[in-house]
Amino acid sequence: MIRELHEKLISGEITAVQLTEEYFANIAQKDEEVFAYLTLTKKSALEQAKKVDEKIASGEKIGIMEGIPGAIKDNICVKGTRTTAASKILDNYVAPYDATVIERLKESGAIFLGKTNMDEFAMGSSTEKSAYGPTRNPADPERVPGGSSGGSAAAVAADEAVWALGTDTGGSIRQPASFCGVVGLKPTYGRVSRYGAIAMASSLDQIGPITKTVEDAAIVLSVISGEDKFDSTSAQSPAKDYTNYLTGEAKGLRIGVGKDYLKDLGPEVKTSIEKVIETYKKLGAEVKEIELPYSKYALPVYYIIMPCEVSSNLARFDGIKYGMRAFDHKNTKLGFKPEDRTLIETYLDSRKYGFGEEVKKRIMLGTYALSSGYYDAYYLRAQKVRTLIKQDFERVFEDVDLILTPTAPSPAFKFGEKTTDPVQMYLEDIFTITANIAGVPAISVPAKDKVSVDGKELPIGFQLMAKWFDEENMLRAAHAYEISFRSDAENKIK
Ligand code: GLN
Repeated sequence: MIRELHEKLISGEITAVQLTEEYFANIAQKDEEVFAYLTLTKKSALEQAKKVDEKIASGEKIGIMEGIPGAIKDNICVKGTRTTAASKILDNYVAPYDATVIERLKESGAIFLGKTNMDEFAMGSSTEKSAYGPTRNPADPERVPGGSSGGSAAAVAADEAVWALGTDTGGSIRQPASFCGVVGLKPTYGRVSRYGAIAMASSLDQIGPITKTVEDAAIVLSVISGEDKFDSTSAQSPAKDYTNYLTGEAKGLRIGVGKDYLKDLGPEVKTSIEKVIETYKKLGAEVKEIELPYSKYALPVYYIIMPCEVSSNLARFDGIKYGMRAFDHKNTKLGFKPEDRTLIETYLDSRKYGFGEEVKKRIMLGTYALSSGYYDAYYLRAQKVRTLIKQDFERVFEDVDLILTPTAPSPAFKFGEKTTDPVQMYLEDIFTITANIAGVPAISVPAKDKVSVDGKELPIGFQLMAKWFDEENMLRAAHAYEISFRSDAENKIK
């Protein structure tokens, strides 16, 4: 898609301003229902587009992302733009700097349409936890788009953006991609700088692309990845053009499928994933049975490590340095005035009124697990199991190049269906969380066979995980699957 639009821009079939306006028209038409965006940046987007058109008119060469409009999840800082992480506590926060990924995208000439909705501070799997209300799934407005990057996935699916950025701590790029029928890629931990992404759990967070095609994901990843001196966990790896690895072939790749992975799935999801496996066999990949015995502990390990890091990262939101400063108005009845409150009261009121329930729950869980006396029993033990899970992957990746799983246990669910039982919501990430725990790259690709629920055809994704820093083979395999269903005319590899 990006490549085709790029060619149209070069040939003059369309201008960048026209393209940008077309996307704003789609937003005007659809976003009242979908609610993918929290903030639109129309003025700056059109200014950006105008510059691209001037460049084209003057005969200068343009890059592949130049003039291509996209959307940014609202927990990634864009200078001068409201950045809320979908939390009331940051309702009035305007980012004073650009995240590294934004800086790189700006250099590439990409256009930003706006900031997308999400679960508050990226905690959730449905966008129902956004302080501003939920996003709807374009495939069925009665259903959630997944989360936490639900706004980004819905924007791409509804043609309200060509590409989008999401963040993924336990599945937040891949699960919404699966629910909305688009591609979502979580890079290897360290592949993409986290500088300027509002931290949820720093040892798990990664920024990545959500797009319509695998090639588009490769294009965006090529722009945003690479070492960054502002993120000490970013890996020393030279920038690469990942599209070079899209050969259209999966021949010879060894793909591992977990022994019990398909066991608890609904029949239609199971059939859909089994057909994906058959397709890979037809493409010449070797499918092998694998075992990851410690993976079953990934979810409980995540729900210790993640809240611990959340409790520490979110300590900075205190109503003093930035964001909302709240005052408990009940106090006015007792004769208190806002200026009478103490520093501690200001902290307490701001956090009480600024954070939503889910966020507060996780802060409390994390604070408890880190407290002296419990630290060894919970946090330290979880870290040890994390090492065992990583070792599982090291062992399995001696035998296979990729691991294939469903992305989520089911297609998109209805609003409210999982809000009463948090464990049901947390189980959404059963297949995605291991990649964050181990730090390996993973991608969700729409399966050819949709799943019909209540007479509706709903998209479902499958997931490929690869060795640390082997985005190349992962993208190659994902792309080979995707194009295997296109007509011969479209099937030409560039
Ligand atoms: N759904 C998971 C959670 O609620 C993952 C979120 C994420 O990846 N940001 O924590």
